[in-house]
Amino acid sequence: MSFFRLIDKGKGTTRLFVGGVHGKEGQSTISALKRIQSIHVKTGKLIIYNCDQSEYISTLDNRYYNSKMGKEILRLINHYQPEMYIEAHCYHPKNYTKLTDLQRKEKIGVPPLIELEKGVLIGSVSPHIRKSLFKREDVCLTLEMPCMHQIQDSQTLENSFPAPEKSLKTYVNLLKALAGSNNRPDLEKNISGRYPVQVKTARRYAREFFGEYPPF
Ligand SMILES: [Zn+2]
Repeated sequence: MSFFRLIDKGKGTTRLFVGGVHGKEGQSTISALKRIQSIHVKTGKLIIYNCDQSEYISTLDNRYYNSKMGKEILRLINHYQPEMYIEAHCYHPKNYTKLTDLQRKEKIGVPPLIELEKGVLIGSVSPHIRKSLFKREDVCLTLEMPCMHQIQDSQTLENSFPAPEKSLKTYVNLLKALAGSNNRPDLEKNISGRYPVQVKTARRYAREFFGEYPPF
């Protein structure tokens, strides 16, 4: 599943999209990341990397960025110094409630993920790297969609979950919006027409969690 693509449109924002950061997630995220191509980047750079299967350690666990895969991601961040860092994840449908739980902050210390639509969720990246590796104005986002293979296997949830291709389409469209944005105002302009409430909620969570830190 290892996949690398570098799109270089000269001067401008450097973006790093990393998928499949743990477990088998790369099997699903590769279908989305492969659809992001040169045409979606107007200026600057986009580096796309999809990881091979690895041990599953949550990125909220401080062991993650000391693991083999975690260190590889840190190397990519240090090498490219992106102003936009996107982690593409996927989740088992059974974890939807836990990820979007409005009490998530009280329970595990990080805000809930926010649903855009079709089971696609957004949130900040792990607090272990957000403040130490990025500037406050950088765009750092975690994206989640239902894992393709798991949603197909998940008989009981089949009816209550959006069709996998619909989730994937929403996820890919968000990646395209990110690839075509240079900074946060640009991104907000590109997505808040479709997701006004979600953008506002993201800003509020970020203020609560990061203090004066920016929304993404
Ligand atoms: Zn994940």
